[in-house]
Amino acid sequence: MKKTLAIVSALLVIGSLAFAQTTKQPKIGVAIYKFDDTFMSYVRNAIQDNAKGKATIEMVDSQNAQPTQNDQVDSFLSKKMNAIAINPVDRTAAATIINKAKARNIPVVFFNREPLPEDMKKWDKVYYVGAKAEQSGTMQGEIAVDYWKKNPKADKNGDGVIQYIMLKGEPGHQDAELRTQYSIKAVTDAGIKVEKLAEDTAYWDRPKAVEKMKAFYAKFGDKIEMIFCNNDDMALGVIEALRQEGYFTGDKYIPVLGVDATAPALQALEQGTLLGTVLNDAKNQGKATFDLAYALAMGKNPATSGWKIDDGKYVWVPYQKVTKDNYKQFK
Ligand code: BGC
Ligand code: CA
Repeated sequence: MKKTLAIVSALLVIGSLAFAQTTKQPKIGVAIYKFDDTFMSYVRNAIQDNAKGKATIEMVDSQNAQPTQNDQVDSFLSKKMNAIAINPVDRTAAATIINKAKARNIPVVFFNREPLPEDMKKWDKVYYVGAKAEQSGTMQGEIAVDYWKKNPKADKNGDGVIQYIMLKGEPGHQDAELRTQYSIKAVTDAGIKVEKLAEDTAYWDRPKAVEKMKAFYAKFGDKIEMIFCNNDDMALGVIEALRQEGYFTGDKYIPVLGVDATAPALQALEQGTLLGTVLNDAKNQGKATFDLAYALAMGKNPATSGWKIDDGKYVWVPYQKVTKDNYKQFK
């Protein structure tokens, strides 16, 4: 009897060791266009949080250089990662990445920077997680419309036209192009006339936005009636530059709009310097990116991950308007 028990328990031990072997965590390689990007740092954290106890993540900083990222992808592939998740530096570089991954049969999830549709079609194990850029532009424009209608004094020169400045993110990025276009479309669709005083890129970057805004201010001064920024970091840079000109005290004010709803942007909403922003849901984008990569790494169909997959390839995380009326729920 004792002997049988001993044999049974020995077998159990061997069995659970074998089980532990086969349930070894999958390896997922993640490349981020650059670590030094506020919004991407939120997405990075969400990926890491979701991976805890499930997968081994190797996350690398592509330092805003596509050649660096290509080398990192090569290294992921030669290390036989079970799946890779890529935030491209240059979204037109996706084709090369897809071809290489396909040759090794290692599935790819792109996120935040959307590859061209023709590239997405190159292989069935290619997915994209992101948000509809047009939606964020429309929402930003709607916040502007609301404000303009409720505040007749916002029309400083009383001509019935919004004299505005547009600060763009990196040219070519779907979010920069479409937010720029759709924010203004929402305004004109509401029957409001606009006059663009200036448009320039500050590459999503706060210090660059401070510099650009200083130059705009030197040229247009208080003629500016509204400032649209493709993201919060740039909006905060604009606010910083305006503060130096004495704005946001007394009645010196220019409405500034952003996108992302980062922590410092929510603080600016609370302080009344930022007029509005749009939640770019980093938590859910990071979660969906991980969940899809994880399903693929485990050899499962990503549709089993619980996310709704459009056109067999796309997960769209919705945006939400954020103003001083509702910002508390996003903190
Ligand atoms: C965000 C920006 C960010 C960019 C990076 C955009 O969706 O709004 O803040 O810099 O993604 O690709
Ligand atoms: Ca005006």
